[in-house]
Amino acid sequence: MSTTVQDLQRRLIALGFSLPKFGADGDPGSETISAMSMALDELVTRRRGAEPLPAPAKPGPATLLPADWMPDAKMQRVIVHWTAGTHSASETDRGHYHVLIEGSGKPIRGKPSIKLNEAPAKTGYAAHTLNCNSGSIGVSMCCMGGAIESPFSAGKYPMTREQWEAMTSAVADLCRRYSIPVTDKTVLSHAEVQNNLGIQQRGKWDFTRLAFAPSVVGAKACGDMMRAEVRAKLS
Ligand SMILES: [Zn+2]
Repeated sequence: MSTTVQDLQRRLIALGFSLPKFGADGDPGSETISAMSMALDELVTRRRGAEPLPAPAKPGPATLLPADWMPDAKMQRVIVHWTAGTHSASETDRGHYHVLIEGSGKPIRGKPSIKLNEAPAKTGYAAHTLNCNSGSIGVSMCCMGGAIESPFSAGKYPMTREQWEAMTSAVADLCRRYSIPVTDKTVLSHAEVQNNLGIQQRGKWDFTRLAFAPSVVGAKACGDMMRAEVRAKLS
């Protein structure tokens, strides 16, 4: 499809610009070119006025977790779980993790302080991963009670996209705060611990399936998706 000068003129006039008349032959002439150039400048200015400039990248502050949930400590990794419960954080859940993410995406603070899991773990630490709690922050999504791995059924409390989104924001906050790099040994799901860290677990499958994204299957695929989203939030 070719556009003639007259087409351009008609479209600019339709946008509300006044243009001098073209010759019948469509020859723009220098007067018309300069008018169109001014019209384009005006269009750019209008656009800038209507659309806010993109926000600058912000390296510093947490986006989801309050600063006082993240006390000074030396932490090596973040391990992400699901609770195998409902979409709400129970008292028991709060005893086992540092941060919980409810079905709505709301973050809930666990009872143990992150500081208690600093190596060597101290009395009252969050026991979230067998033989791998020292130096490990435990984050858990409240969901998947009654779920079945194979054939897959997410049960009555499927993981929601909102809580996945909030989880990756929380993990990004923790990585920023504790200077944890995003690798498959330092930001991983419970289901990846045995493979990636060589620490035996007991058939844990949190998470090898994402109820809101059924095409993503397996611990590595789910873990890679999490890390990609965390990295995007940190950049
Ligand atoms: Zn777990």
